[in-house]
Amino acid sequence: MSQRQLAMVMDLNKCIGCQTCTVSCKTQWTNRNGREYMYWNNVETYPGEGYPKKWQELGGGFDEAGDLKAGVVPSLQGEYGVPWDYNHDELASGAEFKPHVDPKWGPNWDEDEGAGDFPNDNYFFYIPRICNHCTNPGCLSACPRDAIFKRDQDGVVLVDLDRCQGYRYCIAGCPYKKIYFNPRISKSEKCILCFPRIEKGLPPACAQQCVGRIRFVGFLDDEEGQVYKLVKKFKVALPLRPDYGTESNVYYVPPTEAPPKFDASGKIIEGSTRIPPEVLEKLFGKEVHEAARTLRAEMKKRKETGESELMDLLIAYKHEDMFRLDNN
Ligand code: SF4
Repeated sequence: MSQRQLAMVMDLNKCIGCQTCTVSCKTQWTNRNGREYMYWNNVETYPGEGYPKKWQELGGGFDEAGDLKAGVVPSLQGEYGVPWDYNHDELASGAEFKPHVDPKWGPNWDEDEGAGDFPNDNYFFYIPRICNHCTNPGCLSACPRDAIFKRDQDGVVLVDLDRCQGYRYCIAGCPYKKIYFNPRISKSEKCILCFPRIEKGLPPACAQQCVGRIRFVGFLDDEEGQVYKLVKKFKVALPLRPDYGTESNVYYVPPTEAPPKFDASGKIIEGSTRIPPEVLEKLFGKEVHEAARTLRAEMKKRKETGESELMDLLIAYKHEDMFRLDNN
């Protein structure tokens, strides 16, 4: 258990799926040296199979008794998909423009497909995902080498590469499949929450570059901070798949502002939403219903009175106010 815990809150009502976060992370950390297939940050369309494919069904995490559950290690040929490049060099000699492998899967393979029948039941939303820097990490519990640790000062989960022997138990143990094997060095690697930036008082690159201003970063015990207020005071930010038992420290404001349904005359059916409540409950737990009620009540209050601390927080007028990293 670390002394303090940094956390991130992502407001899914504001994510536009632009992938700026993904690119900022990839160009900084994973576009080279055996990390090419890794996405320490990715943005998935939900419903969708995600990255790696069907990650929610690949095991890991803890059962109700607190025991580590069996999990599988995704493969490059299967759940990740082999990264590909194009034959630019051959184009001058008239070759057909094509990938250098026959791609079968990859990040964003099913982007924007969603589910449900047009015109009234179709929907999708985006879920950006990074390592959750869990309080009870499945990766850490699974490692027989004690190579994974949580930093005392901020709870960031890191791999000690000197201790890692590349056994990959951590990958099976992480139910979010957010730790990866680097074949170039035969070791596991993962999102480091941009700790070199954090130590300079700067937010992680994904949060800094987020054009939708969906990401708040701060310490969970900082009662003046937005993260504390969204998670603990208003209780509108919830962990993804809390049933995995890892006590993750990335929280999501659920997508309550999905398009409504329309009646036969084309009028909005008041109070309707296209995202089935059971879908949100599976992703964010039973608390999602109370969180949705709070969000809707505060939105109504804001419309009627012009005032709502919660709505002001979520609007995030100034990007720099979304990060509180230096209140030690
Ligand atoms: Fe470990 Fe996975 Fe939790 Fe990250 S999300 S701390 S890799 S168990």
